Amino acid sequence: MEVVKLDLNCIKNSYKKRPCDSHKGLHGHALLIAGSLDKMGAAIIASKACLRSGVGLLTVAFYSENKNVLFHSIPEAMYANTCVMNDLSPYNAIGIGPGIGVDEISLQYIYELYENKLPVVFDADALNIIAKYKIDWKHFNFPFVLTPHPKEFDRLFSELNSESERRSIAIQKAKELNCVIVLKGHKTFITDGIQTFENTTGNSGLAKGGSGDALTGMITSFLAQGYTILQAAKLGVYLHGLAADITLQTQSEESMLITDVIENIGLAFK
Ligand code: AMP
Ligand code: MG
Repeated sequence: MEVVKLDLNCIKNSYKKRPCDSHKGLHGHALLIAGSLDKMGAAIIASKACLRSGVGLLTVAFYSENKNVLFHSIPEAMYANTCVMNDLSPYNAIGIGPGIGVDEISLQYIYELYENKLPVVFDADALNIIAKYKIDWKHFNFPFVLTPHPKEFDRLFSELNSESERRSIAIQKAKELNCVIVLKGHKTFITDGIQTFENTTGNSGLAKGGSGDALTGMITSFLAQGYTILQAAKLGVYLHGLAADITLQTQSEESMLITDVIENIGLAFK
């Protein structure tokens, strides 16, 4: 199968310019289920990246009393406690996983998605929960994107693979599960089981905690705006890496923080 380079040319085909007479209702409402008592940073990073990627409205749900942390860092976001899962009708897309932990409370969030029809990004601890509790994929009857790094991928699909084995398993699993798999790394690999893409942006400044949380926020934002799961994954991965490359103009790979990268998402769009 041909691996297409995910470059500007490839992205231009899927990018939709915002109409000048648009309003926030047109750009979707994203729900991010992220963060917990000790990991609020994950929720904040994912939320900032989500908002910087064009979504009309963002609600963040987490199991913690600490909602002021969210309001102080991101006044644009709304908070909902995790009972929000009882009514998903206000939302257009869901991102779940960064910093949620793998305990029984977080497992419950996954159960509550079973009847859902919205597109979902599963990342980080959401992937770890699926692996730990051996959740059956047959419950996921909605469009979804999985964004594992290699260790998460191995926990989900099999142990001790080489990168080329992971890529073949990703193609096979994406086809079987009817989803998009984003296998993260230096040259992130994206597949829907039919087509395959290899990212051309990004640098080792991203090899730090929090980078993947930002990507989850970005892909969720694009899904809420109506992009397909494959388009949202491609746009998110390409722009996330490009924002990191732009950050190299003012930071080194060592000094770069994911919050610097998020501030450059705007230049990446331009
Ligand atoms: P996570 O491990 O979930 O925090 O995700 C890390 C993110 O940073 C993914 O989007 C990776 O593709 C990206 N990343 C990590 N290391 C590199 C690297 N050396 N070059 C390019 N991108 C990287
Ligand atoms: Mg991660």
